[in-house]
Amino acid sequence: MDYSHVRDVDPAVADALSGEDERQRNTLAMIASENHVSRAVLEAQGSTLTNKYAEGYPGSRYYAGCEYADEVENLAIDRAKELWGAEYVNVQPHSGTQANMGVYLAMLEPGDKILSLELSHGGHLSHGHPANFTGQLYDVEQYKVDPETGYIDYESLEQKAEEFDPDIIVSGYSAYPRAVEWERIQDVADDADAYHLADIAHITGLVAAGVHPSPVGVADFVTGSTHKTIRAGRGGIIMSSEEHADALDKAVFPGGQGGPLMHNIAGKAVGFREALRPEFEEYAERTVANAKALAETFEAEGLEVVSGGTDNHLVLVDLRPSNPDTTGKDVESALEDAGIVLNANTVPGETRSAFNPSGIRAGTPALTTRGFDEEATREVGELIVRVIDNYDDDAVVSEVADRVQELCDDHPLYEE
Ligand SMILES: *Cc1c(COP(=O)(O)O)cnc(C)c1O
Repeated sequence: MDYSHVRDVDPAVADALSGEDERQRNTLAMIASENHVSRAVLEAQGSTLTNKYAEGYPGSRYYAGCEYADEVENLAIDRAKELWGAEYVNVQPHSGTQANMGVYLAMLEPGDKILSLELSHGGHLSHGHPANFTGQLYDVEQYKVDPETGYIDYESLEQKAEEFDPDIIVSGYSAYPRAVEWERIQDVADDADAYHLADIAHITGLVAAGVHPSPVGVADFVTGSTHKTIRAGRGGIIMSSEEHADALDKAVFPGGQGGPLMHNIAGKAVGFREALRPEFEEYAERTVANAKALAETFEAEGLEVVSGGTDNHLVLVDLRPSNPDTTGKDVESALEDAGIVLNANTVPGETRSAFNPSGIRAGTPALTTRGFDEEATREVGELIVRVIDNYDDDAVVSEVADRVQELCDDHPLYEE
């Protein structure tokens, strides 16, 4: 990238930006929530729309001069409607958390009841964690995955819903490798007379491409992020039926946000346009095929894969059976030295702390963007296992790092 204007005024930031470009080029991004957007999306995000105030919605803004802001936001909305088949779309949330906030603000009063998956079982902070506004404003009860199978424990969800009588049930997760049975959760919500929010932050792109079942038209509300399995830049999105349009619009602005980030909304419009192309379906299919190849490699090498595999873009490994004395942070840190960037993660039945948990989470969206196929992904899986088994052996880590560098060079990023 050319940061010549930044360099003129601020060499320190220019150095950090160039450093980050190099870091992304020369490492493998396997944090399951990360991806690489196209240059087109980067350009849109770096546009002069960052200068524009556009409080309100297309056609009814609080400021003059919104002609092009309206055009861009309408394009983002129309394309999202086409991608996910939703009646109503709001593209203004600054992030996935802000999208969830929009739904809660629209539908709940402080003190109302949320039933959601526990964070250590794959849930998200914005689903009711005590450190998040959701845990502070609402009454929260949580369901779990079955510790034996790693699948959502739908029966205990049903039982909890009966006992707790929630106002809203939240589905959709951060570290769950299996397909979610939306209808089953919808039935529970119907029986409990509760709303159902399906937060598809991680799988937004997989759902758009039809490689994961869609909750749109099933759940009352669907929220997502626009930067994980879809490459539309950092941000959030809300989908629903027309019935809730007014309440949701008001909850996002002025309820929880001020002026929309119009440059990011331009990035969303461009990223959605890219996702409407037939190649995106191939991309999503390959992302899942690569994750399956990764899970198979881990299992073949003796690691415990939570739930025994994956239906989506991520693999969760419980290190305890194969490497009882090795923590997720040991592995995360040695892998970073080897040029493979993923994260330590809690696993169902966690016996360590959230900060130094017993598992790792690995995702394939970014590798797949770089053109990795199943064979190359299997090799990455083998390299990861070598580092897990030798995390404190500098010679092995350095050998793996050399091979990772070759793989990065073979799959260039932002070079065209
Ligand atoms: C990533 C994620 C979000 C959104 O997070 P932001 O960082 O706020 O964009 C929301 N819900 C789930 C389940 C997630 O995994």
